Amino acid sequence: MGISHAVGSLFCRIRLLLIISVCLMTAGWAGFYLRGSTHNSPKYKSAADNFWRRPSCERKTEDKGQPLVVEETTKEDLKICPALSPYLKGIVPLSFPPSLTLQDVSKKYPLVKNGFYHPENCKSQQRVAILIPHETGEKHLLYLLITYTPFLQRQQLEYGIYIIHQAGDETFNRAKLLNIGYLEALKEKKWDCFILHDVDLVPENDFNTYLCDSEPKHLVVGRNATGYKLRYKQYFGGVTALSRDQFAKVNGYSNNYWGWGGEDDDLHSRVGFQKMEVVRPPPEIARYTMIFHTRDSGNQVNKERMQLLKKVSKVWKTDGLNSCTYKLLSIEHEPLYINITADIGKPEY
Ligand code: BGC
Repeated sequence: MGISHAVGSLFCRIRLLLIISVCLMTAGWAGFYLRGSTHNSPKYKSAADNFWRRPSCERKTEDKGQPLVVEETTKEDLKICPALSPYLKGIVPLSFPPSLTLQDVSKKYPLVKNGFYHPENCKSQQRVAILIPHETGEKHLLYLLITYTPFLQRQQLEYGIYIIHQAGDETFNRAKLLNIGYLEALKEKKWDCFILHDVDLVPENDFNTYLCDSEPKHLVVGRNATGYKLRYKQYFGGVTALSRDQFAKVNGYSNNYWGWGGEDDDLHSRVGFQKMEVVRPPPEIARYTMIFHTRDSGNQVNKERMQLLKKVSKVWKTDGLNSCTYKLLSIEHEPLYINITADIGKPEY
């Protein structure tokens, strides 16, 4: 009697435990599922899906048919992350709390180390280096990092943010700094994809993925300052994504654009000379907010730019990555980004 009672009550407890475990598993699964689905805006998801799946897009193969995915990571058994991460939220309102410091931001994102991050649960589709030429104070950087750090992590990217500074007070040369960023970043890691990024543009929609395509990609269709309209058909400025090979194929940017304007139009011509085509994500996704409006005193309009643009076809093979001379002054690995400072010389004209 005593034994059968004890056995009966043991069964009861096991049954109760089983019921509780099943309930917990169901709740966990539902939570995970809902988290992924409610945050994803179906409208943006389907627009982004269509972009990635368009017939001309062979995103996973480069020119020689080699996969544009990373070959090795630290955890061999991880699956490749999807092109559209389940953590995307669509439009996320921008907020820049005035009291926030860089230390606060780095404390919040402890998984970014020495300027690098990689997702924990899957292998990023590509290794992505974000290159940002920088003219002035650290406050700008803070605004960018507040937005980019969660944005890039939601996209499940392995990434590094390189901020490239021009030493001295010579006129700003955005294009040459980007060439230097490319050359120096490749000494650190075999990056697959380069995002060439203006310091004053913040992405509004995280479906605008910072991944390279089978063709050079222009990510800024619209920005708040210009009514979200493409400026002109050949516009290739603001934020562009070129794979390591695409950028090498066009010999990078020209080194000769000092001051504002022209260098992005020059890059567009180079892309054309190499018979590549610029692709753009759908306009409802490729949207940016411009956060600073005054042009820096070291970056006045380049009056030579029209003359330079006339010569691109003659000079692009000898003016670019293969002729980029500079003196590297420092590379500093901060927790959230990498600072590169270089002496880039002065204009020759
Ligand atoms: C300049 C480009 C600039 C564009 C949009 C053009 O006139 O040459 O460098 O990106 O205007 O502002």
